Amino acid sequence: MTPTLATLPPLATGGPVTVHWFRRDLRLSDHAALAAAQAQRRPVLGLFVYDRAILDLLPHEDRRVVFLHRQVAALKTALQALGSDLIVINGTVAAAWERLLATYPIAAVTTVRDYEPYATERDRWVGERLAQQGIGFQQVKDQVIFDTGEVLTGSGKPYQVFTPYKRAWLARLTDADLTPWALDTHPEAWARFAQPAPYPTLAELGFAQVPDLAPPPTTTDALLAHYGQTRNFPGQAGTSRLGVHLRFGTLSLRELARRALSLSEAYLNELIWRDFYQMILHHFPHVVGQAFKPTYDAIPWRDDPEGLARWKAGATGYPIVDAGMRELSATGYQHNRVRMITASFLTKHLLIDWRLGEAYFAEKLLDFELASNNGGWQWAAGTGVDAAPYFRIFNPAEQTRKFDPQLRYIRQWVPEFESLAYPKPIIDHREARERALATYKGVLGP
Ligand code: FAD
Repeated sequence: MTPTLATLPPLATGGPVTVHWFRRDLRLSDHAALAAAQAQRRPVLGLFVYDRAILDLLPHEDRRVVFLHRQVAALKTALQALGSDLIVINGTVAAAWERLLATYPIAAVTTVRDYEPYATERDRWVGERLAQQGIGFQQVKDQVIFDTGEVLTGSGKPYQVFTPYKRAWLARLTDADLTPWALDTHPEAWARFAQPAPYPTLAELGFAQVPDLAPPPTTTDALLAHYGQTRNFPGQAGTSRLGVHLRFGTLSLRELARRALSLSEAYLNELIWRDFYQMILHHFPHVVGQAFKPTYDAIPWRDDPEGLARWKAGATGYPIVDAGMRELSATGYQHNRVRMITASFLTKHLLIDWRLGEAYFAEKLLDFELASNNGGWQWAAGTGVDAAPYFRIFNPAEQTRKFDPQLRYIRQWVPEFESLAYPKPIIDHREARERALATYKGVLGP
């Protein structure tokens, strides 16, 4: 693993610094946590850790790591343009902090609050370790509009249904929640170093160079304005494709929400879903690995490795499902309408455990987000908070008629679907529907 922890460049200036630890907030504009760091009136030292606890679990070819590597490099270049640099460490978080504490006069640390279970535990550990040195660790809200405790029911409990949550979310929203945070770009606001900080190559991190295929972090007003009409049609370029940028913070969520507020209620609605699922993950961490509603954990999912393999490969004989699965493996993206169809197909038609589908999406999606992916899968399986009722089983043919009427999407990804080379349906729709209904009913009662 290189660069070694020993290559941290010394500071060019004396005096204590505030470290800002970048994670999923890889930008310098409209940044609440950087603003909090600068408010402490010390030079800010930017840090990024390639955390081996996360990276060591990933395959050698991973589009997200390639995307991340490019974005961290861009952040480093942007900090260099301000006369500073980004300290990048490839190692475990614990080792990184020991080295940082031994090298720099750190007075305080800021970061963006993260709601995933691993991150919560990691940050608890770091907070305690810093506290032993008398160093404050400030976790700042930046990747959601409202924090997990900010939109609660009248009795102070977390919402478990989206619509009332959304109503309360909107009622709480003021201009202040979306006001951009300005950045001090004066050189003295940033730590300066005696020599450039090294940056590991992808190979040094243990990954191969593959095309990351991520779209740019922008969208047009026209797309947002028409989003309500275009968002459900996978054959059109009708969604923003900004998920990956919201995931890694290469775009300000507040800026996007400001635009949505004036251009598209439907788009804002989706951003509220995003906040909702982060809130659910925080308050109900058991959703990682278990059904939100415990009775659903009794569903006897079928053990069907062949069905799972054909679903993954896009060879189920249902063109809309296969198109989605092929799009996913070719690009790391799958349209939301199609995510609902493919997830419903796996869990209802094939009666395969939603956790297997969730894990596959987690491995493949460029915009993978634990909270939204888990929420989407549990919604589709009917096991989750505010989920589709179990008896709503998507009919792939009807979904195609409604949302891909000219078969544009299907033709793009499954050009052979009308030929003899295309497989017969893996299971008959009507039979699958009845089997799913009987199985769910067997567990939940009539
Ligand atoms: P747009 O339609 O342009 O929406 C704008 C943004 O709003 C998205 O980028 C996303 O951040 C947010 N958003 C949109 N729909 C949802 C939603 N239903 N729930 C939460 N946030 C939403 N979204 C992820 O970000 N990561 C995931 O891993 C993920 N997995 C999913 C799995 C399943 C089974 C399902 C049904 C949905 C999943 N979603 C996930 C939600 C949604 O499909 C994607 O956010 C969306 O397709 C991303 O494309 P886009 O950026 O063009 O979205």
